[in-house]
Amino acid sequence: MVKNMKLPVCPYCHTVYRYGDVKGELSKKKHNCYNCKNKFKISVKAVVMLFVVIEIICAFTDIGELFLIKSISFPAIMITNIVINLVGIILIPYFVVFRAEKGGEIRRKSPDTKSYRNKRPKTNVR
Ligand SMILES: [Zn+2]
Repeated sequence: MVKNMKLPVCPYCHTVYRYGDVKGELSKKKHNCYNCKNKFKISVKAVVMLFVVIEIICAFTDIGELFLIKSISFPAIMITNIVINLVGIILIPYFVVFRAEKGGEIRRKSPDTKSYRNKRPKTNVR
């Protein structure tokens, strides 16, 4: 699973967004690629799935704790749940997907003309 974890890329020019950039995009309403300026939208479907899994993990951890540690206190269980959810929050940018928006692509007259030749985006830097 860790192998598949990657930060989202622009659906047009495939610029890889850094962790901080993804967080920045999540706080914005409109999304334009900082490299190619095309419009995209953010899909959080995978993020929702991530949290479904996290809540299941929480539930099982709570049950496990209750069984293993008889004298466990409620705050201890709460802290465990908070920690697990924090891990999920940290992972959010890896589960965000950028999708092309209909009509979001700026039509370039001819992308391969000299004026664009030197501005080719660095794709898949990593
Ligand atoms: Zn782009």
